[in-house]
Amino acid sequence: MRYALITGGSRGIGKAISLRLADEYPILINYKSNRAAAETTLSAIESKGGKAELLPFDVADGSAADAALTQWQDAHPEDTISVLVNNAGIRIDTMMVFMQASQWHSVLDTTLNGFFYVTRRLLKDMLMNRSGRIINISSISGLKGQPGQTNYSAAKAALIGASKALALEVAARKVTVNVIAPGFIETDMTEGLDEQSIKKLIPAGRFGTAEEVAALAAFLASDNAAYITGEVISINGGLYT
Ligand code: NAP
Repeated sequence: MRYALITGGSRGIGKAISLRLADEYPILINYKSNRAAAETTLSAIESKGGKAELLPFDVADGSAADAALTQWQDAHPEDTISVLVNNAGIRIDTMMVFMQASQWHSVLDTTLNGFFYVTRRLLKDMLMNRSGRIINISSISGLKGQPGQTNYSAAKAALIGASKALALEVAARKVTVNVIAPGFIETDMTEGLDEQSIKKLIPAGRFGTAEEVAALAAFLASDNAAYITGEVISINGGLYT
């Protein structure tokens, strides 16, 4: 069977992508620590007739990612992971003048190094099978920069550069690599922001939903998107084009 792995699949955008891709694939729900949320996502998939498994590991820890994926592959010798959504991400916002090295590194370790560890581990099988979809969740902050987010903007911009390079490396083997760059989406990550003020800046007049991002991810994962690679697709209600 061909599985889809969604990093940070327990909550928010990753949860919505897990639920949406469960219409087509058995799902591996990765998360770091919130087991209760991951189990809720798993139950939601099962109650709509889908199949899913939990696969917890810290994407920022290369050895942990390798160990978890090796263990999964040993237990599933007939199966393969053909869709990878690198969605796990955190933000620790502060002006650079106040930023601690640990705040810089945590954000880059999760978004950028996480992408590297998990993708490198799964890429060989995708290339051998001549089939794969890699979808990386960046951000409007990686396109235009955001004050208070030098760490996050750096990580999300680097993810775009890496995706474009990787897309060229693997295109001949029918593996596509694309980036989704969301604007403001209603999740735990945006909770506490001043939604009323921010909404005034968004031409569509509202935050997006995780389900809207998931619909785009499902398209990019589908056969219909076979000729799209190395692209960055914004989903931001017109906030930045
Ligand atoms: P969220 O609600 O905070 O969920 C984050 C998810 O990532 C959780 O499942 C969390 O797992 C997981 N995670 C965090 N660190 C991890 C790690 N080291 N290893 C494995 N899993 C980890 O965030 P979200 O809003 O859905 O954001 C998802 C992605 O979209 C992120 O990359 C974010 O930067 C990007 N994005 C979001 C927005 C927005 O407006 N929400 C806009 C642009 C881009 P636990 O449950 O175990 O903590």
